[in-house]
Amino acid sequence: CDDLANTGPIEMTMCNYEMMESVNGDLFQQLHELVETPFFKYFRVDLYRECPFWEENTLCMDRDCQIITVDESQIPEKWRADTLSKVEVPSEEQRQALPGCYYRDSDFCFLDDDTEGEYVDLSLNPERFTGYAGDSAHSVWKAIYEENCFGQSELSLMKDPSKAAVQLPDTLSEVFRSDGDVADEQCLEKRVYYKIISGLHASISTHICYEYLNQTTGEWGPNLQCFVTRVASHPERLQYIYFNTVLLLRAVARIGPYLSAYDYCASSSQDERDATNQKLANVIGIAETVGKFDEGVLFRGENANVLKEEFKQHFRNVTRIMDCVGCDKCRLWGKVQTTGVAVALKILFELDEKALDPRHNTNLLRRTEVVALINTLHRFSESLKAVDEFRRLWRVASAAD
Ligand code: FAD
Repeated sequence: CDDLANTGPIEMTMCNYEMMESVNGDLFQQLHELVETPFFKYFRVDLYRECPFWEENTLCMDRDCQIITVDESQIPEKWRADTLSKVEVPSEEQRQALPGCYYRDSDFCFLDDDTEGEYVDLSLNPERFTGYAGDSAHSVWKAIYEENCFGQSELSLMKDPSKAAVQLPDTLSEVFRSDGDVADEQCLEKRVYYKIISGLHASISTHICYEYLNQTTGEWGPNLQCFVTRVASHPERLQYIYFNTVLLLRAVARIGPYLSAYDYCASSSQDERDATNQKLANVIGIAETVGKFDEGVLFRGENANVLKEEFKQHFRNVTRIMDCVGCDKCRLWGKVQTTGVAVALKILFELDEKALDPRHNTNLLRRTEVVALINTLHRFSESLKAVDEFRRLWRVASAAD
C-alpha cells in the first residue's frame, strides 16, 4: 500500500480504509481485553445533572435503559472520591513553566468533577438497543447537529432514511467510491466537525442494530435491516466511522509515550500490570501504523484561533447536551464517547510536544480522560467489526433471494 501518507483529515484514500480493515481484527482483540481490566472498566460519571438547554422530563423506564453502578468499596482506594479530592492541582508557576499546556482551558469537553457521581463498570453495561427513541432522542440529535452551525444549519443535511436507496455496499471499494461528502462547500474545519458527529451517530446506530432486541421473540441479535436503513444506505456514514477511528488512532499514537508512562498500578498485580502495558503497547503500535490523520492542516487560516475557539465551544456544548439524553445507559455511553472524542481533539489541536512529554507533564490527562479515550476507540473498532459481520449477513441474505 504505497499511498498511506498523512493524506489530510478529509481525503482518506482507499489505502487508509484497507489498512484500517487489515488491522482491525487485531486492534479490536487488544482493546477488548484492555477494557475488561479494572483500570479501564471503572468509569466515574455524574449521570444525574440537569439538562442545561431545555426541560427534559423523559425518563426511559425500560429495564434496558438502566445501568448497574458499583459500590465505591469495590474500587481501588486511590480512585475513591475522598482520595481524589486531596489531589493537588498544578500551581500557577507550574502552569507557566509549560507553555502549550493549558490544562482545563484546552478541554473540548465539560468533564464531570472527579469527586462527584458514581462508579460504573462499563463492561457490565454494554452499549446496545435500549428502546430509547422518539421526540426526546431526536431533540438531542437535532441539538448536536445544530452545534455545527458555524453559520449554516446542518439539520438540512439529516436525510430521511426511508427515501434512501436500500443497498448495502458490499466491498470497501464501493464504500470508498460513493461520494457522500454532504458538506462540500464548507470550510475544512466545519466538514471535520460534521464528520465527527455523523460518524459518532453512525457508530452508535451500528451498535444498536448489532445488539438489537427482537421485541416479538425476546431474543438479542444483529438486525440487518436496521443497519441498512440507518447506516449502510448512506455510505458516507460508514466512511465517517472509519474517519473517527483514524482520528482516535492518531491521537493515541501522538500520546503514546504518555500512555506508556501512565500509572495503571492502583488496580492489580504486577503480572496484570505487565499484561495491561503490553496490550497498550500493541494498540499504540497499531495506532502509529494506521493513525494517518494530518491535524496540521486544520486551524491554519487567517481566523484560525477564532475558529478553533468556536470549534471547542461547540464540542463542549455537545458534551453538555449529553445531560439531556433521557435514558441512563445511552447517557452513560454518550458521555464516554463524546469525552473520548474531545480528549482526542485536545491531544491533536491543543498540546505541543513539550506538553505531551510525560516527564514534564505528569498530570496532563485525568484518569477519566484516559479511560474515555481507550473505551471510545474500542467502540469504533467494534463498529467496524460489526460492519464486517453485517456484510457477511448481507451476502447470505442476497444468496438466499
Ligand atoms: P435517529 O438515530 O434518532 O436519527 C435522527 C435523524 O438523524 C434520522 O432520521 C436521520 O435523518 C438523521 N441521521 C441518522 N443517522 C445519521 C448520521 N449518522 N449522520 C447524519 N444524520 C443522521 N438508543 C439505543 O437503543 N441504545 C443506545 O445506546 C442509544 N444511545 C444514544 C445516545 C445518544 C447520545 C442519543 C442522542 C441517542 C441514543 N439512542 C440510543 C437513541 C438512538 O440513537 C436513536 O435516536 C433511536 O434509536 C431512534 O432512531 P431513529 O431511526 O429514529 O433515528
